[in-house]
Amino acid sequence: MTVFDTTLRDGEQTPGVSFRQDHKFAIARQLSECGVHAIEAGFPASSPAEFESVKAIAAMGLEANICGLARMLKPDVDACLDAGVDLVHVFIPTSEIQLQYTIKKSQAEVIEAVREVVGYVREHVDQCMFSPMDATRTDLPFLIEVSRAAAEAGATIVNVPDTVGVYIPTKMLALIGALVPEVPAPLDVHCHNDFGLAVANTVAAVEAGAAQVQVTVNGIGERAGNADLAQTVMILETILGVSTGIETKKLVETSRLVSRYSGIAIPPNQPVVGDNAFSHESGIHSHGVIANAATFEPGIMTPEMVGHRRRLTLGKHVGRHAVRQMLADVQLEPTDAELDRIVEKVKAVANRGKHVTDADLYEIAETVLGLQGVGRRIDLKDIAIMTGTHAIPTASVRAIVDGAERIAACTGNGPVDAALRAIGKIVPLPVTLKEYGIEAISGGSDAIAHVTIAVEDERGRVFDASSSGDDVVLASAEAMVNAINLLSRAERS
Ligand code: MN
Repeated sequence: MTVFDTTLRDGEQTPGVSFRQDHKFAIARQLSECGVHAIEAGFPASSPAEFESVKAIAAMGLEANICGLARMLKPDVDACLDAGVDLVHVFIPTSEIQLQYTIKKSQAEVIEAVREVVGYVREHVDQCMFSPMDATRTDLPFLIEVSRAAAEAGATIVNVPDTVGVYIPTKMLALIGALVPEVPAPLDVHCHNDFGLAVANTVAAVEAGAAQVQVTVNGIGERAGNADLAQTVMILETILGVSTGIETKKLVETSRLVSRYSGIAIPPNQPVVGDNAFSHESGIHSHGVIANAATFEPGIMTPEMVGHRRRLTLGKHVGRHAVRQMLADVQLEPTDAELDRIVEKVKAVANRGKHVTDADLYEIAETVLGLQGVGRRIDLKDIAIMTGTHAIPTASVRAIVDGAERIAACTGNGPVDAALRAIGKIVPLPVTLKEYGIEAISGGSDAIAHVTIAVEDERGRVFDASSSGDDVVLASAEAMVNAINLLSRAERS
């Protein structure tokens, strides 16, 4: 079973998405390290810039095969060949509606073009993928005929695209089941998510005998997008027990990388990679998960498998077990009565509609236990920023760290980056910034910024904190210091 990723081709056709060239390199490298079998790098004939981009990716020497897309035309194929790809993906519409309205060709003319162009591809390169575009709306006898023709002309794999996302899993099972014995080449599927069934249809195709799946990171792509890489792979690996060759531990970092570069946020409830995928808030669920994670998680899929983390989150449904566990992580052991008061206060904050962070919980516990300020290793005193059109963003910080004054300065991509790096310099222990989120609470340039930060220590423990204010840099610095203080408490165990 192999995985073909088209994040850089179909994914880039997402309305509003255009990847920078250095970001394309980074995505291609990440996908290859993730273990995808092939990367569709682009459509070389579409523009000189696209041609150069595909050529540069093909020259990276990645483990994954690099694929270029081409219409059923020799000049398109030549552009792919000149770009130096390993695999040429040729497509032509085959449904009645497409033949009539887009290419104005008869079925016989399509077959002739397929034989000629696929044969031409194979004279020059070892791998050729053929796509009968709009396959799921193509008459089955013609779909079989054109697919056979492509395979006989040398196509090494035949893709079955559900171009407009109109299939359902039972129909996909039947279609792939009908094609497998008729087409003398391995089959691949490319499903669109117009009705939210892209992943389900892709999985059904594998059950029916498809040998390869086409996916994109975060399911980006035209209209409602394509089948999501992480979901498809995890269903195949765990529920179906099919090996995909994907290094599943890299799925979350891959998703975040593409989210950052595409500018498309990952919804918290996104399966597998979303923030909430392994988070538990309700008292009953948290209690169960503390005893055995498989009580309220799939069990066959764990956060460790996908590079995620399990989180007990604080909210209005939080229970005593979760709070006790979270406080124990930072060496706090309240009595039963104290714990009740802490839980009550957490729920009160949550009831005001606020997200309660680890740092908020700690602050509440400090108050209840009468420990104000104890164990704060970093006390931020001053922060100064220089930024502007002609200045490299630079931040200097002054803080009391373990009782002694420390000063550090650092440059960065922007003022926030510079400030967080400067704080990183004075931190007395190794800390990695895991997450940074910012939200403007009201519209307008005077909006209050709400910053959420998560930091991770060497042992992989993660703590989050937030801060709000009208100064984005200050709010970021405060949230960072709060999170680090919490982490350094946990460290002393
Ligand atoms: Mn597509």
